[in-house]
Amino acid sequence: MIPAQILDQITDKCTEGLALALACDEDGAIMELQWCNSAFTRITGYGFDEIVGQRGTILIGSSMDQGDHLIIIEKLMNWEHFSVKVRNNRRNGEQYWQKMSWVPLSDAQTGNRWWLCSLVELEDQPRETARRRPYPAVEPDQGQFAVFAEKIKRLEKENARLHELAKIVAKESNEDALTGLSNRRHFEIELKSWISDLKQGGRDFAVFYIDLDRFKSVNDTLGHDAGDRLLISVAGMLRRLTDGRDLVARLGGDEFVVLRPLGDSALNISGLADAIVQEMHAPFAFEGKSTFCSASVGVAIANARMEIPEQVVADADIALYHAKSQGKGRWSFFTEEMHAEAIATKRLVSDLLVACEKREFVPHFQPLIDAATGRIASAEVLVRWAHPRLGLLPPSAFLETAASMGILKRIDEITFAALPDILASFDRAGVELPRLSINISAGRLADPTFIHDIKSSGMDPQRLTIEILESVYLERIGDVVQWTLGELRALGVTIALDDFGTGHASVQGLLKIKPAVLKIDRQFIQPIVEDETARALVASIIGIGKSLGMSIVAEGVETEHHAQFASAMGCDYLQGFHFGKPMCSDDLQQRLAETAGAFWHPGAEHAGLERIQRFS
Ligand code: C2E
Ligand code: CA
Ligand code: CA
Repeated sequence: MIPAQILDQITDKCTEGLALALACDEDGAIMELQWCNSAFTRITGYGFDEIVGQRGTILIGSSMDQGDHLIIIEKLMNWEHFSVKVRNNRRNGEQYWQKMSWVPLSDAQTGNRWWLCSLVELEDQPRETARRRPYPAVEPDQGQFAVFAEKIKRLEKENARLHELAKIVAKESNEDALTGLSNRRHFEIELKSWISDLKQGGRDFAVFYIDLDRFKSVNDTLGHDAGDRLLISVAGMLRRLTDGRDLVARLGGDEFVVLRPLGDSALNISGLADAIVQEMHAPFAFEGKSTFCSASVGVAIANARMEIPEQVVADADIALYHAKSQGKGRWSFFTEEMHAEAIATKRLVSDLLVACEKREFVPHFQPLIDAATGRIASAEVLVRWAHPRLGLLPPSAFLETAASMGILKRIDEITFAALPDILASFDRAGVELPRLSINISAGRLADPTFIHDIKSSGMDPQRLTIEILESVYLERIGDVVQWTLGELRALGVTIALDDFGTGHASVQGLLKIKPAVLKIDRQFIQPIVEDETARALVASIIGIGKSLGMSIVAEGVETEHHAQFASAMGCDYLQGFHFGKPMCSDDLQQRLAETAGAFWHPGAEHAGLERIQRFS
């Protein structure tokens, strides 16, 4: 495969003058020049812009022998591949000798026919031309001349058709071939002109940025023909909903854009956005199969008060992103807050990349208490970002963005790498920390180096629990994840299912993964003291877990009541602010030393217990 850059250099550095002309199918002598290289400009004196759009006759100078001219026309008319040595003129009239060659080319895709014309400048008049007379070799007879003259006349007549052809060419390059809408090139030209009108006191206008929500999945499941049909039907829908004053374009892929002048009523804008979203809620049918593909729309307005109206498309894109993040299949109108948010996200993204480089992530630890003894059973490792400007940040400030950047795995890796030293320092200090629980992202679980990292960490796998979210394995229960889980079990690592009850298809997931530990999400634990229904729900979760032989952790234990209730209901372990918030390793070490590992006194007499007994 020859790199495109090399091909580009050939056209530039080739010493032969080259030009391409789009020809009229019916008569090869009718053509429009579309391109030339630098050598062509050097030889003829015509610049690229001067030749593009010109007819082939521009290549025939006034000094060219009439017979040679006729030969050229005849061969072109017959689509012949040929070379001639002729006298010609440069743009400035200077005479010179050249070898002119013509090669017909055809484009199978469009059916268009092209000419490649190449020119080589000759030092002197070629010797044979002194002998060679213009075609025919002897004086041409009048009859033949008449035939050629007639042909030339016809050529002139065909000039009008040439202009038609030129129009088709222009149209082709402004039009999206699949949908017939304006393409990105044309959109950009139009946008410039709308903006320049706006600056000269013209009307404000709205930009609608439209993106299909499930296009990739339609393509993947129903095939590319279906994808194409969907795009064509979206284009048809947009045409129906707009009128001649609007501009509708497909920017590429599944992205469309509409420019609409602002009317007297805001409905003019919201109505269109609404209609697009509504229409796309309808099912899309293809060859007897039907599927859904909603669209999200971002809308922004360009007005004369804007400092940089060119910004409007980026604004609409930000609004589109907002619509997507709010659940897709909806439209959003651009606001300044979104702009600020987009800037903040951008900054967060670049800060996060630096943070990965500089390994600014540190583990914090929250104790898990054995409900039977009140002693520490484990510590959950919770990541914090030691941000150089903003201080210590919780996961809520960055994990979502990190996930969308695909760097969650890297963060988990950095956090994990700090653990062996910390655990070793606890052991050295003689404080007892039986186990660490680490949170693992889907990416990390699907990363084969994870097992290697655990094996080479020097940590005892028997002292490790990994916490995974239901969503992680339900979505990604691919072979690698299965393999990783199997390896983890074989190493003696405990697998816990985190935030149980918040995902979908919980029981199905449970059966698939068979974790040794089930962590009940804090949203179920927190109301158990007051709310009987919540208690019943927790009791049934505990029942399911126990029947599958799992240990149960209650998360979000914030009060003594919570602890008493959860413990009495059968939770094996308790975790929450009641026993300690996540803390740095030094603080945890100090707490462990002070308490000798005893964080709680279970079984204390409490008014709540009576209620539990009544309940159970
Ligand atoms: P999680 O795994 O469910 O972690 C428990 C979260 O609940 C922690 O929030 C913890 O501070 C908080 N929490 C603990 N006890 C209580 C309580 O009694 N009341 C209340 N209101 N909250 C409590 P944090 O540290 O902000 O972590 C949030 C989430 O971020 C974690 O939820 C986990 O899903 C994720 N996460 C944290 N660290 C990591 C990590 O290193 N890797 C990955 N992949 N995810 C992490
Ligand atoms: Ca967790
Ligand atoms: Ca949790």
